[in-house]
Amino acid sequence: MPDANTRNAVYVGSFDPPTLGHLDIIQRGSRLFDRLTVGIGINPDKQPLFSPDERISLVSEMVADLPNVEIRCFEGLSVTFAREIDAAVLLRGVRTVSDIELEFTMALTNHSLAPELETVFLMASEKYSHISSTLIKQIARMGKDLADSRLQRFVPECVVEPLLERYRKIS
Ligand code: ADP
Repeated sequence: MPDANTRNAVYVGSFDPPTLGHLDIIQRGSRLFDRLTVGIGINPDKQPLFSPDERISLVSEMVADLPNVEIRCFEGLSVTFAREIDAAVLLRGVRTVSDIELEFTMALTNHSLAPELETVFLMASEKYSHISSTLIKQIARMGKDLADSRLQRFVPECVVEPLLERYRKIS
């Protein structure tokens, strides 16, 4: 197999929903690499809050000002997806020591599956290191009055309303 392009990176995750922490990694990654592909992972065994198409449009809106970032959905292994799009770097964000443990295991596994793919870690920015999609879903579930102003501290502006709308529909 020819060498993948070392200037192409891929950043995979569920992005359900995308957060300010994700956006921070994408912005920093887009400055480090020529091309950054955001890979939205589809897990057919999980029921996501936002469909793949909805997540594509939310992430697209939040990265609209980053010309070297593209968004794709994928099913299956990240390493297979990275090969398909000719990326040589798998970009990950780490928030906590417990993240590192998990990420380390994943990086070793990915390395044995695809030695040509290098995992690169960016430390979460201090102000976003507590943010996770799971936490945001919990806050949004608390209801509009409590959540709307506070959600802006966790998710990009374009995600606030769709997130609240989703919970209004569910409740
Ligand atoms: P998954 O749902 O597969 O765990 P996520 O969408 O939560 O994926 O995260 C994708 C990647 O983004 C992971 O490398 C994760 O550590 C990183 N990440 C998630 N939240 C943050 C954050 N607040 N700051 C920095 N990196 C983050």
